[in-house]
Amino acid sequence: MALSEIAQKVGTPCYVYSHRTLERHFNVFAQALDGIPHLICYSMKANSNRSILQIFLQRGGGLDIVSGGELYRAMQAGAAPQKIVFSGVGKTEAEIAMALQADILMFNVESEGELERIQHVASQQGIKARVALRVNPDIDPKTHPYIATGLKKSKFGIAINDALRLFEKAKTLSHIAVHGVDCHIGSQITELDPFVDALHKLKELIHDLRSQYQLPIRYLDLGGGLGIPYQDETPPHPDEYAARIREETEGLDCTLIFEPGRVLVGNAGLLLTEVQYLKRHEEKTFVIVDSGMNHLIRPALYQAWQAIQPVKKRAGQPWVVDVVGPICESGDFFALDRELSPVEPGDLLAVMSSGAYGYSMASQYNSYPRPAEVLVKGAAFAVIRERESYSELSRGENTPLFDL
Ligand SMILES: *Cc1c(COP(=O)(O)O)cnc(C)c1O
Repeated sequence: MALSEIAQKVGTPCYVYSHRTLERHFNVFAQALDGIPHLICYSMKANSNRSILQIFLQRGGGLDIVSGGELYRAMQAGAAPQKIVFSGVGKTEAEIAMALQADILMFNVESEGELERIQHVASQQGIKARVALRVNPDIDPKTHPYIATGLKKSKFGIAINDALRLFEKAKTLSHIAVHGVDCHIGSQITELDPFVDALHKLKELIHDLRSQYQLPIRYLDLGGGLGIPYQDETPPHPDEYAARIREETEGLDCTLIFEPGRVLVGNAGLLLTEVQYLKRHEEKTFVIVDSGMNHLIRPALYQAWQAIQPVKKRAGQPWVVDVVGPICESGDFFALDRELSPVEPGDLLAVMSSGAYGYSMASQYNSYPRPAEVLVKGAAFAVIRERESYSELSRGENTPLFDL
């Protein structure tokens, strides 16, 4: 499928995803875990388009959600509640009530306050809430600080030193059923050691919980975080990741839960954008395109590097350019001092590896409508989300009764 044809029919900017790659990524991950009792709960915050969710759901996957809105989308996509786990540090009473009513598999509880709140809401509904406690194992995942979540100083999870006390407390609560132990130490992790170090600490904890507190821990949730190649990273293949975990969990007698996000969708998508202007300053050449941090914030937020390829390569020596968007922010760039073959206004560029944390983090900043999303399957493509219209920009805005 030619990207130029998609651009012509759908317009730019748009996200383009490959069905074949999405399917392959899921199958590779699932096959790596073959023979291990497990559930793959795709972390839908990476890309929550309904069609993407359904590709994974139809192949036996479940979902990891972090909000009531994600639960709503999960149900719309037809997810089985028994395959949904609910993570996140700020669950409101309403979100907890909604998830209890939906009868999801488990809450990943991130604090003592949340545990008490779930007990309270479950008692109001007269049911028992299944929970795992998300433990913070104090492991350095060696990734960007904004996506490291398992260090002592992180807001996520329950400090490992406080975990036994909270499990003991959870056991005494009338409307709480403790089913598991959970951790998620970060994202874009490119080595196995941090995963294995975390697993060692959790295994010790599970042992203590079973022997000292007679808690029947049935689920071990290892979170997500497996990295992908954006540039020259060499993250472990899911086969290597699974082999280590298989080895380490032999005889543990737990169903393992995985929450992969990026590794399933990241390299299955790109952002297609059109060059608007070339602008030369004394020290810089800017390639100004029709999309920016409003649609893909990773470079601005995480100093992330993503490959950029011209859809049709022009002859000539490469230039060194900044690829920037139209947004009124100096942080609005896709690439700085990047070698790029020559381009002209009207040319199409593909910002690669944009399937994860791309559209799902997009905003309407500067009042640009969010882009369309396109799914390619073989020789066919479908717009799986329409480009937003101008009228959607002001949807829900009211004029007050008092004078302005
Ligand atoms: C974001 C997140 C994930 C997914 O992380 P990836 O790096 O995309 O695999 C999994 N679990 C939790 C709790 C998360 O917050």
